[in-house]
Amino acid sequence: MPKVIKASASLAETLVAWQKVHGRHHLPWQNTRDPYRVWLSEIMLQQTQVSTVLTYYDKFLENFPTVADLAAAPQDKVMGLWSGLGYYSRARNLHQCAKDVVSRFGGSFPNTAEDLITLPGIGRSTAAAVASFCFSERVAIMDGNVKRVLTRVWGFADDLSVGKNEKALWQMAQEALPTRHLQSDMPRYSQAIMDLGATVCLPRKPRCAECPVQTQCKAFERGEPEKFPVKTRKLKRSSEVLWLMLAQNAQGEVWLEKRPATGIWASLYSLPVFESEEALQAALSSSLQKAQASGAGTLKWEVLPAFKHVLTHKDLHCHVVKFKVAKGSPVPSEGAWWSEKNWTSLGLPQPVRHLLSSSL
Ligand code: SF4
Repeated sequence: MPKVIKASASLAETLVAWQKVHGRHHLPWQNTRDPYRVWLSEIMLQQTQVSTVLTYYDKFLENFPTVADLAAAPQDKVMGLWSGLGYYSRARNLHQCAKDVVSRFGGSFPNTAEDLITLPGIGRSTAAAVASFCFSERVAIMDGNVKRVLTRVWGFADDLSVGKNEKALWQMAQEALPTRHLQSDMPRYSQAIMDLGATVCLPRKPRCAECPVQTQCKAFERGEPEKFPVKTRKLKRSSEVLWLMLAQNAQGEVWLEKRPATGIWASLYSLPVFESEEALQAALSSSLQKAQASGAGTLKWEVLPAFKHVLTHKDLHCHVVKFKVAKGSPVPSEGAWWSEKNWTSLGLPQPVRHLLSSSL
């Protein structure tokens, strides 16, 4: 424990003092109070590791230095730059949020959690993060790291999959916030609790020996930190079968279509998707007849090895039918031919990108 921490210090004082010495200070979204940069990092960090976010964060800021630049960008460009980060609803909300900041707030993010939460894609914890980091508002964040730290420190054993228990924890978190020097201590406290969860109070094998709040920690005292947080409800998983049509022409271009605005891979570009082998073959047969009628030759297809792609709530079992088309052959879907030079910069679902990179 660093010397600056008093034995009688509150949780907030302890964490603030610890962060100054032992917290993370090198991440590009730290050391700024620009809400655009903080918000961008918070959205990217949801469900994604810091190491992955770093590259995307820089790329986004290079292309869209301000929220107004992001708001004015075409959706395809935003989705293309997001491609590979996954959870694409985040990118759609990000774009919509930027537009709302411009249209509703004149291009400046609002400065309270209460107003921030009215924007698309900004939940209670993200609103609190932006408000505390940028405007020093006394408001508690509650992401996975924070839940883990607080339930362990307080020995909070109620099931967090029950709404009222999570609400109770949030209330306790709010009461534990710094009460003095809010201008400097609020951002530092929010950073501290995130840093502690990310670097010390790890989900497995927490490093209690290095922890600044060890003496206050009930879970440590009971010798069972890994039992917290308690969350019993498991995600219900489902599965879906998709048949993907991989058509390539003589120039090596591939046929891609834009997905609808809702459903799997919404608003991304993809190989045409069919719900069954029969549906895909029926579409191909009709194309084959048209090709023969137009003298464009025959259409031969091969079925590639099937693969599984795992989403948060769903397993996708993907089958791929690949064929080459002669010049002028009709392709049975709404779409366009894309050269490799151009499709690589599109927003593509990760398995489609992988498939194109590995099988063309
Ligand atoms: Fe987490 Fe261990 Fe610190 Fe408790 S003592 S907060 S379990 S790292």
